[in-house]
Amino acid sequence: MKHLRILLIVAALVNALVLLFLLARSPEEPDKDGDLGAVLQPLVDDATMASARYDLRDQAARTNIIVISMDALRMDRTGLGGHKGGLTPNLDRLGEESVVFTQAMSAASWTLPSHMSMWTSRWPSVHRVTNKLSLLGQGQMADTTLSPGIETFPRLLSEAGWKAAAFTGGAGVSGRFGFNRGFETYIDDRPFAGLDYSAPLAIDWLRAHKDEHFFLFLHGYDSHGQHPLPESIIRSIPYAGPLKGDIEEQAALREQGLANIKAPGDDASLQGAVGPADAAFLAAVYDRKVQQADERLGAFLDEVRAMGLLENTLVVVVSDHGDEFLEHGALDHGHTLFEEQLHTVFLMRVPGYARNQQVDAVVRSVDLFPTIFDLLGLTVPPGVNGESLLPLLRGEEGARLAYAETDYRLFVHRRAIRDGKYKLVIDLQDGERRLFDLSADPAEQVDISSGEPRRTYELEQALKRWMTDHGSNPQDYLGIRQDPIEIF
Ligand SMILES: [Zn+2]
Repeated sequence: MKHLRILLIVAALVNALVLLFLLARSPEEPDKDGDLGAVLQPLVDDATMASARYDLRDQAARTNIIVISMDALRMDRTGLGGHKGGLTPNLDRLGEESVVFTQAMSAASWTLPSHMSMWTSRWPSVHRVTNKLSLLGQGQMADTTLSPGIETFPRLLSEAGWKAAAFTGGAGVSGRFGFNRGFETYIDDRPFAGLDYSAPLAIDWLRAHKDEHFFLFLHGYDSHGQHPLPESIIRSIPYAGPLKGDIEEQAALREQGLANIKAPGDDASLQGAVGPADAAFLAAVYDRKVQQADERLGAFLDEVRAMGLLENTLVVVVSDHGDEFLEHGALDHGHTLFEEQLHTVFLMRVPGYARNQQVDAVVRSVDLFPTIFDLLGLTVPPGVNGESLLPLLRGEEGARLAYAETDYRLFVHRRAIRDGKYKLVIDLQDGERRLFDLSADPAEQVDISSGEPRRTYELEQALKRWMTDHGSNPQDYLGIRQDPIEIF
């Protein structure tokens, strides 16, 4: 009996010692027998992130927003878009922490209507800011400005408590078109300025306001034909032809291409004036500009990171359109709706969800602000054309139809519809339609409309119905012709 009592006391003491030992162990100390927890944790994280809700509603009151527009940046020149030349290491690095939309399509192929479609989540023919000047009739023109009846998302943000500031390269994003509504600060005084001008101003502003609740819009024309590249860099490009690669020459070639449109519906053409070697030189100048744009973006993001803002700031990077280098006969942008002009950059770094998710479905630039509002639990006003992309991120929804328009300088009038890999482009002035299979022919070199009459017909009907539903009549454009209006 006495032995049994001693045995029980010893057993109790051993148990207590084991318990004390377990309690004293640091919870972080890894399990030495294979470290199962460390193996499982990334799998759990992946599963959690795959079904991430992307929900910031509870934190909206302390979540800042930075939207950066890299003007004229082609998606196919970025690492995110598959370019192997390493032109955009900083953008690509941000992409590693972001939702990256690989098939984003702009609503228009030039600055003014494209940005206004983002600002209003409306198609260009709905917001009607399609040119810098508007025709009043009898040859009278007036400056275009957004109708007071159409709401802009930045103004709604300012109304909801975000302090709004914009630092831009002016010109097509000048405040007077209606972009500046709701902003306390809107810098647009230097036409075609790059991030070398706008980003340092934005950093100064952030230093002063980083503890407030803010929405910041940063924009630069760094990659644009009208933004100069230092002559020393241009001269470093191997090329023996007659072109100089400067902005005056770029404007002259752009106008020359348009001047070669002899009948309504013609393509702009520089055939004979600019050869393949010249186009390659101009594309190389562009690539150097893209590199420079990315360096400036990187410097800005480094400052934002160093200020600790990434913890509670949604960062979105977009481009508004691309640029053509003779892929379809001419230079610059605005005059067509082909992919070199429409396939744009669109990524979103969401605080709390900062890891890469690639979305390959077609998305539209009109979806930008409805997505931001959905993330933050804000109410999207009625009448917008875009939709939140969050269901797409959660795998709850398939692709959507995308549309694009250009009425560039009241001189060319084109519309496009994209349904998955198929894209139909109509020239409204002569009724010509071209159908492309972007999976087989991403450069849109082979019109397959004659081999696919049914698909062509259906897409054309859908596109024309969409035009009618949004207030315009395809017939109104047939045969119309006037000189291109000024752009500055
Ligand atoms: Zn632009």
